[in-house]
Amino acid sequence: MQINETIVRNVVEQVLAQVGSRAAANGAGHQSNRFGIFTCPHEAVEAAQVAFEQLSERTLEERKRIIDHIRRISIDQCVELGTMEMEETKIGRLVHKIEKLKTLGEKTPGVEFLRSEVFSGDYGLAVIEHAPYGVIGAITPVTHSLPTITGNAVSMIAGGNTLVVNPHPSGKRVAVEGVRRFNEAIYRDLGIDNLICVIAEPTLETADVIFKHRGVNAICVTGGPMVARAAMNSGKRAIVAGPGNPPVVVDETADLARAARNIIQGAAYDNNLLCIAEKEVFVVDQVFDAMLRAMEQAGAVRLNSGEIDNLTREAITTVGEGDHRHEVAAKEFIGKDAVVLARAAGRQISSDVELLFGETAEENPFVPVEQMMPFVPFVRVRDIDDAIAKAKHYEHGFRHTSIIHTNNVRNMTKMGRAMDTTLFVKNGPCMAALGLGGEGYISFSIATPTGEGVTTPLTFTRERRCSLIDDLHILGK
Ligand code: NAD
Repeated sequence: MQINETIVRNVVEQVLAQVGSRAAANGAGHQSNRFGIFTCPHEAVEAAQVAFEQLSERTLEERKRIIDHIRRISIDQCVELGTMEMEETKIGRLVHKIEKLKTLGEKTPGVEFLRSEVFSGDYGLAVIEHAPYGVIGAITPVTHSLPTITGNAVSMIAGGNTLVVNPHPSGKRVAVEGVRRFNEAIYRDLGIDNLICVIAEPTLETADVIFKHRGVNAICVTGGPMVARAAMNSGKRAIVAGPGNPPVVVDETADLARAARNIIQGAAYDNNLLCIAEKEVFVVDQVFDAMLRAMEQAGAVRLNSGEIDNLTREAITTVGEGDHRHEVAAKEFIGKDAVVLARAAGRQISSDVELLFGETAEENPFVPVEQMMPFVPFVRVRDIDDAIAKAKHYEHGFRHTSIIHTNNVRNMTKMGRAMDTTLFVKNGPCMAALGLGGEGYISFSIATPTGEGVTTPLTFTRERRCSLIDDLHILGK
């Protein structure tokens, strides 16, 4: 027994010594054992540069092992980390905070998504491979703080990059804790630290340092209009996952019960915090009343016009001056439960109601504003053309997400062409476009104004061509 314990202790010491000497050999130096946590953005970028050099020496198999640690922690610790996110941000719904981490851990595309292209012909062989950018600066939203970091880390590291994250200040603690756990597990197994660096006290100034730092090779921002604009003006290669205001169209051929179930599923998810979530619905006059009944039958609670007026007064506010003055969602209501919104509207409802809705004019601010709360306005429209025209208008040209419920293929085609959105969902809830109940894969950074779409490891790579002249085209003369 005594001997066994000694042997075990010796083995553990040897392993720790190996990890330590490997880290030293890798040049991890003074920044190892930080587990990615920094207050100074300059130090964070330097550490991410060192980590990038180390990662570049590793095999694809090791990259996969690194990513498996991130996946495992997101899945196994989703309850603890999801609860932490909920307690810190105080928006959304706990069950979905937990589910988002688990889903991103399971489904974010990893190393297996990388591929090379080959041109083989009379003049030899050209191989196109996908190389990393290096250090990527990532800005993440409060609506999904750790989930966005998880998805970004998997995709960016799969592409061979390291990252420096400036999280939203209201989601910084969970960001730091998640990043610490990811890095620690990776370090213990592979001896590389700081693959994911996070700014523990993020501000607009630290974001600006990351935008401008010479050691940052590309940036990826996930957020609203201000940060999207700031990233596009940064002068760096920017992958911008910007805001949306996804409209839904329902025509007279739709399966109304299914449409109602789908709208509730998408719009109520995490209290409407998803950028892809159903934000306003245009229903043709012929089935408008039946659609509202279907929503009630599916469990949503309908507000009357007086209640909608009360809610609008409380939950929508104005910001900006002069020409820039515009309406926005009031912070106190973003991501809150339906029961909180109902109280503001002057109605008592059961706490298990997921979504409120009601008929509004298109002029009601809930139509143009990205409300991110579980009340969805329904607007009566003349016909499909009127519906599509209004959907296009209120999507504001973000080219983010739009949704239609119809069994008329012409109407699907018409709307798809007119909207020109990155995601276009037919007869499903919004999340079906991210492979959740639909085909495809997931990411919580959907690059809209810059056009990369649902980001994957390939999004975070540069093309490199390797040409061999005259040889290895073994099929020809
Ligand atoms: P937000 O724009 O307030 O903040 C996003 C991030 O940007 C935060 O880290 C914030 O600190 C930072 N930021 C804001 N202004 C900045 C500036 N001028 N310079 C540098 N950094 C700045 O958004 P939010 O409330 O955290 O998230 C919700 C928004 O994000 C919604 O508009 C939603 O549609 C969008 N979003 C988009 C996607 C997508 O994939 N396209 C995904 C999630 C969220």
